[in-house]
Amino acid sequence: MPRPIEARIDLAALRHNYLVAKRLVAGQSAKAWAVVKADAYGHGLLRSAKALADVVDGFALLDVEAAVALRDAGFRQPILLLEGFFDAADLAACGEYALIPSVHRSEQLQMIVAAALPQPLPIYLKLNTGMNRLGFTLDQLPAVRNELAQSTAIGALTLMAHFADADGERGVAWQLETFNAMRALWPAGTPVSLANSAAILRHPQTVHDWARPGIMLYGASPFADQSAASFDLKPVMTLSSRILGVQQIGVGERVGYGGTFIAQRPTRVGIVACGYADGYPRHAPSGTPILVGGRRTTTLGRVSMDMLACELTDLPEADVGSKVVLWGQGLPADEVAAAAGTISYEMFCALARRVPVIEVTG
Ligand SMILES: *Cc1c(COP(=O)(O)O)cnc(C)c1O
Repeated sequence: MPRPIEARIDLAALRHNYLVAKRLVAGQSAKAWAVVKADAYGHGLLRSAKALADVVDGFALLDVEAAVALRDAGFRQPILLLEGFFDAADLAACGEYALIPSVHRSEQLQMIVAAALPQPLPIYLKLNTGMNRLGFTLDQLPAVRNELAQSTAIGALTLMAHFADADGERGVAWQLETFNAMRALWPAGTPVSLANSAAILRHPQTVHDWARPGIMLYGASPFADQSAASFDLKPVMTLSSRILGVQQIGVGERVGYGGTFIAQRPTRVGIVACGYADGYPRHAPSGTPILVGGRRTTTLGRVSMDMLACELTDLPEADVGSKVVLWGQGLPADEVAAAAGTISYEMFCALARRVPVIEVTG
């Protein structure tokens, strides 16, 4: 018998969440790239793409290989490469498979000219508006504009920027100011793509022609102070397992590696078949929320590779075989992430290969 751990991926919820994003951006007559990088944030690229196939405006991801896999599977929607291309072979693939690369440095423009593709290549021009990760600065833009004006190798152009703090206190105004100065260098009507999930949900004025929702599609919130449910987003991934052992310990006894949990009362401890090798965050401390038999309790002690412990003293009906939800249905991943000092993005992406995935629809 396999270990009882499994990850259920609710494809109906994924579709629902995409439609929530689409409804929000439709107010600004915009379209929405479904951001499916990192294997659809750990949810599985092809299964996620299939779930969205008949509603999605386009897919945004990183790897040419993943993009080609989508094309080979028959997807005809636009595909955006968020990190651009890395070499000439990638460029040839952009031409052959109709992929739209982002371009974030001048050498890439020269590579496109040198590639002499049969058709002009549409690009997303990545602008650095203050995140200081990728993209052209305001100073560099006039030269880029002149280069583009002289080139016939480059087709339709979209201006793209990314927010560093759309979910936080600094907000977006400071980056928008730089962006607007950049945009003024291009003809009116040049398409724009700015908004990630946080910007779509909290700064609708940033939604222009194409938005780029990621985390909200997977039913998690980009905000520390507002739940996904408050935006009508539904959890897509539910990681569950079962209790495989129970210990009764006395006052002063400890649990797990390092003995970081010390019982203050006679304590009934459940051992769950899930550990950091399954993708559960090792840094989740005692007190991280967990569901046993549908009831909320907390983890105890350090997370091991294949197991973790939980508090069952007040759940007498829980026993070996009881179902445990680590996150998902009934326990938002965001709450577990907050307790563990991480974000749901990281937990989803860390789901280990060894965890069997079960697709469900509702
Ligand atoms: C990952 C990513 C997104 C999606 O961000 P979320 O916070 O998950 O919505 C959008 N744009 C770019 C450039 C990204 O890298």
